[in-house]
Amino acid sequence: MKRTLSALEGQPLEGQRAFVRVDFNVPLREGTVADATRIVASLPTIRWLRERGCRVILASHLGRPKGERKAEFSLRPVVSVLERELGIPVAFLEDAVSPDAQQATRRLKRGDVLLLENTRFYPGEERNDPDLADAFAKLGDLYVNDAFGSAHRAHASTEGVARRLKPAVAGFLMAKELAYLQGALADPARPFVAVLGGAKISGKIDVIEALLPKVDEILIGGAMANTFFAAMGLEVGTSLVEPDRFALAKDLLGRAGPKLVLPSGVTVAQTLEPGAPHRNVPRERIEPGWAVYDIDEDAAAEYTQRIGRAKTVVWNGPMGVFETPPFDAGTVAVARGLAVASDRGATTIVGGGDSVAAVKQAGLESKMTHVSTGGGASLELLEGKELPGVAALDDA
Ligand code: ADP
Ligand code: MG
Repeated sequence: MKRTLSALEGQPLEGQRAFVRVDFNVPLREGTVADATRIVASLPTIRWLRERGCRVILASHLGRPKGERKAEFSLRPVVSVLERELGIPVAFLEDAVSPDAQQATRRLKRGDVLLLENTRFYPGEERNDPDLADAFAKLGDLYVNDAFGSAHRAHASTEGVARRLKPAVAGFLMAKELAYLQGALADPARPFVAVLGGAKISGKIDVIEALLPKVDEILIGGAMANTFFAAMGLEVGTSLVEPDRFALAKDLLGRAGPKLVLPSGVTVAQTLEPGAPHRNVPRERIEPGWAVYDIDEDAAAEYTQRIGRAKTVVWNGPMGVFETPPFDAGTVAVARGLAVASDRGATTIVGGGDSVAAVKQAGLESKMTHVSTGGGASLELLEGKELPGVAALDDA
């Protein structure tokens, strides 16, 4: 367990400079913020610190400028969003390692907020360069990491600075992510059902391995299922499969036994073109020249039933090519299944960039107990790995 912001309650925070790593990796359109979700998600941490008299210094990366100062990756457009949300002027600092950067943070008044320019404008950020981490550490009196989506990377603003600047604690958003994603695995209410899908089995082997001993059932969908089908000797036509994983899939099937559930039927088509004919077939009837693009209605109904009996559900990876209707049907059905399970009191957790996008697309985000803000980071937590940005924080 890691120390969180709330553990600092009662300590003398008045006038302290809080260096806060946030995730402001927001989409930009014509120089303005196109979606402020991530900024809004960081507000509870910022407000809490301001209310206690802290001076708040915010750091984030945006995009992949690869260590160069590139105008299109500037965090400057975030300033006006912060000003609107917080109702105060927000200062901006071009260069966090310049000689007068420290002075700029010391000039701030209690409750003031200063946003630093993109941390990835420095080549040292992604290398976790000690000098850059030192420079960041000089800008604060305490460190708060609220950037869950970047916690799986050991960068100067996530890992390096947390080793140097103490106390180093988890912000509210980070704490919530850890509570759900680690909590679900540590002590799940049962039955515990995992739903796994997506394009590739190869990217999710470690998740399957880590979840197998903990869950009561793993329901498989997406192109991942095809690799299992092929490993079982079924015809998979032109479906996306990973032949170099057939042996592994076979081994997993053997070890998992009835815990691992594959779709009984699938939706197939000859091409992904809009309007191309498609049909539902049992998994034993996939024909050459046809590809699996979704689980079918029967499989979706069965999965929904199993999800409905669960007390904990973790979902990562869409059931089909949800970007191309009608192959979104299986994914939408599973999303609805989780929503119903939530209504019945189950804990439902969704992780993974595309799965989260699918849940949002279906308008069901608010129905889930927890929708993770970090794709890669949530996957690594489900794999049971320790995230470097979290490991560097103080223990509770
Ligand atoms: P997440 O981001 O939720 O972890 P992934 O990135 O692993 O999910 O997988 C998402 C991708 O998997 C989507 O782009 C989707 O189109 C693709 N996919 C799902 N099912 C299939 C399928 N049967 N054939 C081809 N691609 C699929
Ligand atoms: Mg993805």
